[in-house]
Amino acid sequence: MIYLDNASTTKMFSEVLEVYNKVSNDNYYNASAMYTCGLNSKNLINESRNTISKALGANNFDVIFTGSATEANNMAIQTFANRKNKNFVFSYAEHPSVFNVAKELEGKGIDVRYVNLTKDGKVDFDDFKSKVDENTCFVSIMQVCNETGAVNDIKELVVYAKSKNKSLVFHVDGVQAFLKIPVNLANLGVDLYTISAHKVNGPKGVGALLVKKGVNVNPLVFGGGQENNKRSGTENVAGIVAFAKAVEINFANLMEEYNRILNLKQKLYDGISKTENFRCYTFVENSSPYILQCSFVGVRAETMLHMLEENNILISNGSACSSKKSGNRILDSMGLSQKEVESSIRISIGHYNTEMDIDNAINSILNANEKYLKITNKGR
Ligand code: PLP
Repeated sequence: MIYLDNASTTKMFSEVLEVYNKVSNDNYYNASAMYTCGLNSKNLINESRNTISKALGANNFDVIFTGSATEANNMAIQTFANRKNKNFVFSYAEHPSVFNVAKELEGKGIDVRYVNLTKDGKVDFDDFKSKVDENTCFVSIMQVCNETGAVNDIKELVVYAKSKNKSLVFHVDGVQAFLKIPVNLANLGVDLYTISAHKVNGPKGVGALLVKKGVNVNPLVFGGGQENNKRSGTENVAGIVAFAKAVEINFANLMEEYNRILNLKQKLYDGISKTENFRCYTFVENSSPYILQCSFVGVRAETMLHMLEENNILISNGSACSSKKSGNRILDSMGLSQKEVESSIRISIGHYNTEMDIDNAINSILNANEKYLKITNKGR
């Protein structure tokens, strides 16, 4: 199987799985227990916090472990939901775990503003400037888009937003950026940052919200007061320690892997881009090397997906999103035609992919494209 859907989830590194199993076996004790074995579990969690802080240049942040990035995003936004006479700013590119929370706020009568995207999938800075004002209390913009791979200039957005209201809270969904591109939270100037373990070869069921010291977030989940009263529930010690192991491995090889994956993406792009019906909106040089979003116009995404699956190649047709126009609010906001949207596919590369995988994928994609076009042209 050639797995090219790594933006959706990743396979755990074998070292991470080993750590997960070892901690599950040796440190299964409740991290809140008073005996030494419990304290050892707590220490392991705290060491994991430090590993994550270091990888993000986040000395001045607290790490709150959650059950997913979805939960961390909800926690970040919902903390501020009861601000009166204020507005909230999001982009059209946000993941459903942000976008659908924004929709909830809107449904409660809150002033929610959505920023358009440029044709290459980034937050449109001019539109951003027209939406943020002195009454904006909360902004949430993703760093790397999970569908297109577009990379936003977060620092520029933060500087502008805080020049309008220096007390606004700036949240970033960093799920597709963390350990894929260099990130330093102190340098970005953000207040809240979300990450997820299963996107970086860690286990599923672990995420975290990084909270700048001095910013208060409210718990979503109440109970025994774990995670400094911010997220109750017995801690997932093995999952958290395994997450930290994945962080350690990725962080040590970040730029080496970045360059290797970039070469794979370039190879893929060069291999599939010469066909007449090929379209690509997020160009190799200014998007995440891990994600290639493109269309073979006339070949529906689901059809391409199934034809590739027959050759044991797994890709995605991007996140299904609801929109009145074509079925994808992100691609609509970028100005794609309905035909382009319908045929849009996402190929996302990961650490286990090799040059041979890319060669095979190129062959299969070109064959599928040719075969489908032949069949449909015959029918005319
Ligand atoms: N944010 C982005 C940008 C994502 O790509 C994802 C996963 O698809 C999430 C949030 C949600 O992550 P999790 O699966 O940990 O809830």
